[in-house]
Amino acid sequence: MSVVDRYAPSPTSDLHLGNLRTALAGWLLTRAARGSWVLRLEDLDRPRVKAAGEMAARQLADLKALGLTWDGVVVRQSERLDAYRDALSMLGDRTYECFCTRREIAEAASAPHGDGYRPYPGTCSQLTEAERQRRRRERPAAIRIRAEGVSFTILDRFAGEVSGIVDDFVLVRGDGTPAYNFAVVVDDLFQKVTRITRGADLLSSAPRQAWLATQFGGQPPVYSHVGLVTNRVGVRLAKRDGAVTLADLRAAGWEIGEVIAALTESLGLGRHETLEGALEAMPPLPVTFSAPALWTGERLIATASR
Ligand code: GLU
Repeated sequence: MSVVDRYAPSPTSDLHLGNLRTALAGWLLTRAARGSWVLRLEDLDRPRVKAAGEMAARQLADLKALGLTWDGVVVRQSERLDAYRDALSMLGDRTYECFCTRREIAEAASAPHGDGYRPYPGTCSQLTEAERQRRRRERPAAIRIRAEGVSFTILDRFAGEVSGIVDDFVLVRGDGTPAYNFAVVVDDLFQKVTRITRGADLLSSAPRQAWLATQFGGQPPVYSHVGLVTNRVGVRLAKRDGAVTLADLRAAGWEIGEVIAALTESLGLGRHETLEGALEAMPPLPVTFSAPALWTGERLIATASR
């Protein structure tokens, strides 16, 4: 089966070094396997992606400036609402309406997981039709999948086998927007994705998403969750940390080749000013980065803000 990996930014802000590093890792892993690297803009979260068109264009321009070329057309989630509707109907009566508020879930659920996620305790899964009708008048329902706490194991290139309990997670939010965990699965199947390279903050979502893929008859992808770039005090990099976007670094006098070299070095590949050089430095397949975990980015930021 040919390798297809994807990069799926949300056009909410400029890509920072952490995002660019993840994109580069995915690109290198894919190109080393002679695979296709496809792009998807996750622009469903309307309030957060205002002026999404402009931001998306800037994100694509940054990827291009680094030479991270992609294959085929860029998929935009906002143009795929029919696909989400069809996918939902395929699940038929395996879904149910949920009227719980965030507060009700917090009161009924067990303690949040390390990532702050609270597994849904199933409160609305057994409502009678009469109860549902009454509650529909109170608030719009979210739609959940009946997963009933199955355990699912995914394979990650860096973390190995990772198992997670799949709760009855949300597919469609109360406002009618497809939820992240649902849309990505529908899209990954649509884009024939076989590998996913993305930030390590999403590792805990992977068992849930991979399980859902199997419910549509799909094959779960192989994951590479790449360590997050952090600031000097070990907290995940953010815009406020200084010169962290490509535009910031260029304004500080950095050439593109220097940015690429800093990123390839952070991936344990040594310094390479071109992507071709980095690709040649990739170990033979199956490729693993020697330093997939955390890179502080300290030197880069310190130099950039000098
Ligand atoms: N859109 C998500 C983000 O920008 C990434 C989702 C994914 O790769 O599954 O953080």
